[in-house]
Amino acid sequence: MKTNKMYEAGDVRVEDVPVPRVQQPTDSVLKVVASCICGTDLHPYHNMESHEHGEGAAMGHEVLGRIEELGEDVTGFEKGDLVVVPFFYADNTCPHCQEGWTTSCVNGGFMSGGQAEYVHVPQAQGSMFKLPDEIEDDSPLIPSLLTLSDVYGTGYHAAVMGGVNENTTVTVIGDGAVGLLAVLSAKKLGAEKIILMGRHKERTDLGVEFGATDVVAERGEEGIAKVRELTNGEGTHVVLECVGLMPAFEMSAGVVRSGGVISRVGAPQYNDAPVGASFFGRNITLTGGPAPTRAYMDELLPDILNGTLNPGRVFDVTMGLDDVPEGYRAMDNREALKVLIRP
Ligand SMILES: [Zn+2]
Repeated sequence: MKTNKMYEAGDVRVEDVPVPRVQQPTDSVLKVVASCICGTDLHPYHNMESHEHGEGAAMGHEVLGRIEELGEDVTGFEKGDLVVVPFFYADNTCPHCQEGWTTSCVNGGFMSGGQAEYVHVPQAQGSMFKLPDEIEDDSPLIPSLLTLSDVYGTGYHAAVMGGVNENTTVTVIGDGAVGLLAVLSAKKLGAEKIILMGRHKERTDLGVEFGATDVVAERGEEGIAKVRELTNGEGTHVVLECVGLMPAFEMSAGVVRSGGVISRVGAPQYNDAPVGASFFGRNITLTGGPAPTRAYMDELLPDILNGTLNPGRVFDVTMGLDDVPEGYRAMDNREALKVLIRP
């Protein structure tokens, strides 16, 4: 089968490898119907050293597919079922999973190998989320259903952890797929004022369609001043930080209202942040982390099925497996917001 592997920064190759098989009774194998390239795939695309993965790293952690093979311990599914899998597989039974923290699963781990014809799923029982039988492989809902794996669930997690509701004003930092879906999520949870901070007009335009009431293109001190101008100088109750870089954290601290919450879902590319006196003195809460997207699937599915919400609009380019290396280049150059892969 065809798969995509990364060998070092900037080097993604299409290769022919054996189809994966079930290895443990708790596994499954899916025939991939749709997968995608994630913004986080761009971190190794920039930084991976050639010695880190001598045989190449199988790429792709967001997957929707049909069950090809089932381990003997996996029950309640049949071959051919259409399922979506979270970016972090989990047993969905351990103490952390039972409380909804599937990204802390004691038997969990990151999915990989989704940018291929077939993919191996560990902990299949707890990870696979069955989609309605009537959905065909060419359904227009497929892109939105795929966002349940990562980007929609991650944007929603930011909003939930931030405590967004009809009484909170919200700033979203970042106009990538997660930031735009954090806007959609804040709107879904009732927020009436949603300020989107982002510089790419075609992206922030989609953010406005998703529910952003204001767009601030400025960054740093200028961006902070602009948000404060829009909020009587007070800042917003909630900041959804969907970038993960220090300047985004600093902007978050600058635009959050006293007593407010900064909710982070951009994986922090820093280890130290200013959380001292100024932060403490204003009663700021810092929360967020890797999104347990499996735990949100039941809740987020109905709006997609009935057409109320279309988070799949974040995919602006569709490619086959042979074009995935080009897809990385296009996302890296910001020619593509998010690349959908249809094997
Ligand atoms: Zn677990």
